[in-house]
Amino acid sequence: MNTTKIGWIGLGNMGTPMAEQLIKAGYTVTVYNRSKEKEAALKEMGALIAETPQNLISQTEVIVLMVSDDAAIEQIFKGPEGLFGAEISGKVMINMSTVSPDISKEMASLCKEKGAEYLDAPVSGSVKQAETGQLVIMVGGDETAFEKVKPILEKLGKMAVRLGDAGTGNVAKLAVNSLLALYTQGLAETVVFANQQGIKTESLLNLLNNGAIANIFTKIKGDAIIADNYKPAFALKHIVKDLRLAKAIGLDSPLAKTALQTFEAATGKYGEEDLIAVIKQVKG
Ligand code: NAP
Repeated sequence: MNTTKIGWIGLGNMGTPMAEQLIKAGYTVTVYNRSKEKEAALKEMGALIAETPQNLISQTEVIVLMVSDDAAIEQIFKGPEGLFGAEISGKVMINMSTVSPDISKEMASLCKEKGAEYLDAPVSGSVKQAETGQLVIMVGGDETAFEKVKPILEKLGKMAVRLGDAGTGNVAKLAVNSLLALYTQGLAETVVFANQQGIKTESLLNLLNNGAIANIFTKIKGDAIIADNYKPAFALKHIVKDLRLAKAIGLDSPLAKTALQTFEAATGKYGEEDLIAVIKQVKG
């Protein structure tokens, strides 16, 4: 039995399987999600429910956030029912969402003023890795706070690495996701090119998946292309967010500019689908 009482905010595609991992590991987990219907599955597994982020504080010591973006973090900390409306002294906040380094620096400083700690701890890996505790976790923030919560992070990921002060986890994550965007567009363009020249998608992916540049991403997204299944593991709108965040802190390379243009053009139609739905944009 793990005795640390955990609060979990955000039960989307990633937050749900991650919170489930902690329940399976024996933690007492109290969950909050803006859309209340998503809490039911966790309740079935034994989670407690908090009506608001503020209510969750008194019942918990470590609070994990896994929500969409900077606006969601603002709302959860500073909104009318937000965390800052409660006594947070002594708590550790772990923000695992992909957000800007700036908002992490701001929240870390505000938490510190109130006697709490804040770590940015975004993740690499998607739903499959979340379901099996195999995420890669990049952490920015206070070293002592990191050591304190490391056993929890190690239930969620195969590695948790601290890179430096507040915001450094977010910077690392934006670097990782800029490559993800380039790679996704590259895979989509390669498939479309091969198709145009008469090579079937299945044949091309069979070659790619057995060749020198084979990797798990091509395997998973290749299977999705073949099945014409764009159910979101990582919604396309989120990569647009991440490329914009990377641009805001200085990513200005030719490839990154092109990827941002492509994904921005795709997001109106395919934003709620998986990011590999960009292939439909590339096909035109
Ligand atoms: P998602 O399925 O879209 O879920 C987003 C979550 O954020 C939901 O719980 C949503 O609540 C909540 N939320 C959004 N705006 C809010 C607000 N203003 N106030 C309160 N809650 C709010 O997203 P996801 O795929 O789980 O991703 C979560 C984060 O992890 C994102 O930053 C994403 O970039 C990052 N990430 C995702 C993946 C992936 O493969 N999916 C991989 C690595 C990192 P509702 O249910 O009420 O909408």
